[in-house]
Amino acid sequence: MSLSGPKSAPESRPCSLCHHPPRANSGPTAAITSLDALSQGTASGCLSCSVLSAGIQSVVASSASQDVQPLDSIERLRMDINMAASGQSLSLTLFDRQLEISVFAQPTHKTPEFDRLFPNVPIGVVDLPQSTCSDASLEWVVEKLRQCDNNHTCHRRTSGSSGPLPRHILDIGSSDIRLRESDVEDGEIAKYACLSHCWGASRPLSTTTANLDIHRHGICWNVLPRLFQDTITIVRRLGITLLWIDSLCIIQDDKDDWRQEAAKMGSVYQKAYIVISASKASSSEESLFGGINDQLEPSTIALPSLGQGAALCFRRSFTHSPGYMDHRLVKSSSLPTFNRGWIFQERFLSSRVLHFGPQELSWECLRTSTCQCTPSTIVDTGGGTVGTYTLSARRVLEPKAVFNHGHWRQLKEAQLIKVWHMLVEEYTKLHLTFESDIFPAISGIAKIFQRSASSEYVAGMWTKSLPYDLAWHKETLSDELATENEWSRRPQVWRAPTWSWAAVLGPIKFLDMGTGLVTLCKIEDAKCFPYQTDRTGELSGGNLSLRGHLISTSINYRSSLGQNLRKPFELFELDIMERQVGSVWADYDSSLPGTDHIPAGSVIQCFMLATRIDSGSLIMLLLRKSGYDEEDGCVIWHRLGLVQLSKPPNVRLEAKDYWFTVFKGRMSDLTLVKII
Ligand SMILES: [Zn+2]
Ligand SMILES: [Zn+2]
Ligand SMILES: [Zn+2]
Repeated sequence: MSLSGPKSAPESRPCSLCHHPPRANSGPTAAITSLDALSQGTASGCLSCSVLSAGIQSVVASSASQDVQPLDSIERLRMDINMAASGQSLSLTLFDRQLEISVFAQPTHKTPEFDRLFPNVPIGVVDLPQSTCSDASLEWVVEKLRQCDNNHTCHRRTSGSSGPLPRHILDIGSSDIRLRESDVEDGEIAKYACLSHCWGASRPLSTTTANLDIHRHGICWNVLPRLFQDTITIVRRLGITLLWIDSLCIIQDDKDDWRQEAAKMGSVYQKAYIVISASKASSSEESLFGGINDQLEPSTIALPSLGQGAALCFRRSFTHSPGYMDHRLVKSSSLPTFNRGWIFQERFLSSRVLHFGPQELSWECLRTSTCQCTPSTIVDTGGGTVGTYTLSARRVLEPKAVFNHGHWRQLKEAQLIKVWHMLVEEYTKLHLTFESDIFPAISGIAKIFQRSASSEYVAGMWTKSLPYDLAWHKETLSDELATENEWSRRPQVWRAPTWSWAAVLGPIKFLDMGTGLVTLCKIEDAKCFPYQTDRTGELSGGNLSLRGHLISTSINYRSSLGQNLRKPFELFELDIMERQVGSVWADYDSSLPGTDHIPAGSVIQCFMLATRIDSGSLIMLLLRKSGYDEEDGCVIWHRLGLVQLSKPPNVRLEAKDYWFTVFKGRMSDLTLVKII
């Protein structure tokens, strides 16, 4: 197909319908338009309107077997400009059919006139390997490894760090696959690969005390699930003879062995030569590999009026990792592994991850992120410096290269607190098959963070920043994301003291602390009791002793809302909130029957934690009595929720004086409060 140009020279101002040519340095922009609008633009002589609409028509036509309905001219269209991590992209989304189209060009397509009209169109690859296990794909991987080994030394940087090695590893060097003890004594291990995968509904092939000896002698190819077979195939083709797979290399029914090996998990991934991420597979029964079909062949539209050879390519977009090609994908991903709690640190800590996606391979190392549909490295942070590094929430999901723990040591204390909060906020959005894994699945990150924070880790928090860390609350992201009643109950089995964010299910958020806090209490003690020696692993108990002021309040439940519409911030009605502006968040639904039930009308306590320096807001923990500690001679409390009260803007008093005046007569004297 070929399109002739407009009668007159292209306008330099953006067309109001297709937003081209975009203003220089316009940054990421999203605009809603419609196919109808593009047709109008075409009729009035806008070249970009006409080429974009022709491109959409041609992608829709090539996938016609799936979408039988004809294009509706009023169908809404979202245009995303420069949203990819590379800072250069153009993608079009047809809302009704959920079709996303990527626009790109070949180097030969780019003429000076072309670049003036489409400065945001990236270079793309037209001839892609048909399958992620083809020779061409393997060559692509080998090239990425070579570049990383020669130019970045990402692997050497992480493998050199201290940390224990796995106890067992699969030897796949010969046709007899067997589990062997790794040479832990030598402190040195030959290069090995790790698999990062979803377990799916049932446990994949595992090593247990019953079959440990059998697995040491050999594991039959035929009993290996499809995903493991595919992984072994690809790892062997990369010339690597050792492979670590969690279910086979950790004895699954020996809780002690499991806890010991889980504690090493972070360093196991960190030291791996490469991590194979089965990004598209939701269980071990599925194949590791994907590929492309005719529907993903790009359509090329020639633009002779923009110079000889000028053209634009259109293709149904591939599935990319969240935050990798696309800044908007910050909540959930269509790739199953990206929603799993364990995989968070596996991706985060490893030096190099090779993702096997539904259509193509993606590569992430500490320096670059790229995929097969992008011809060269799209991001190279040069190792990253604090100067180029901003602490926006979306950075957590951006390429490893950008959010890299190598930067942590350079951060100021306030920035480090923010980094930890962002990590926990992202982590708690993810799904864990076993609720008790909440600390183990992030323990590798906690261990590395500790080196930069030089603070003690207590139940997912840091002793140095406790007033900040304690100010977390439950977050309901959206109805689709929250699984049924997820927020309304506590975990089935105790996993953390109630003052820890790990004592609740689902996503949490930390209060924004602005320029900092003034604490209104004294932290006397913060302790947790690990099952084994690893303080970042599973806990058997924990307590927090604070000395400060309590304010009594009665608790009621809002009745106007239906049970299933309730959200954490819509549950409580506290008499303390009368004539106050602020928010109350419940940690769980205490109106429901059960051991954690609190009858309406009961008296509970607010513990004054801190005020914000900038706004003077008061932050309080909501507590209920749960017993008496004879030894310390104090009441034992459970946390129920969090309260934030806003200080009126016209008040001149210092925050502390103001709040002490407001609650005069209702406040207790300084009291020792022990929360478990
Ligand atoms: Zn236009
Ligand atoms: Zn690298
Ligand atoms: Zn791609």
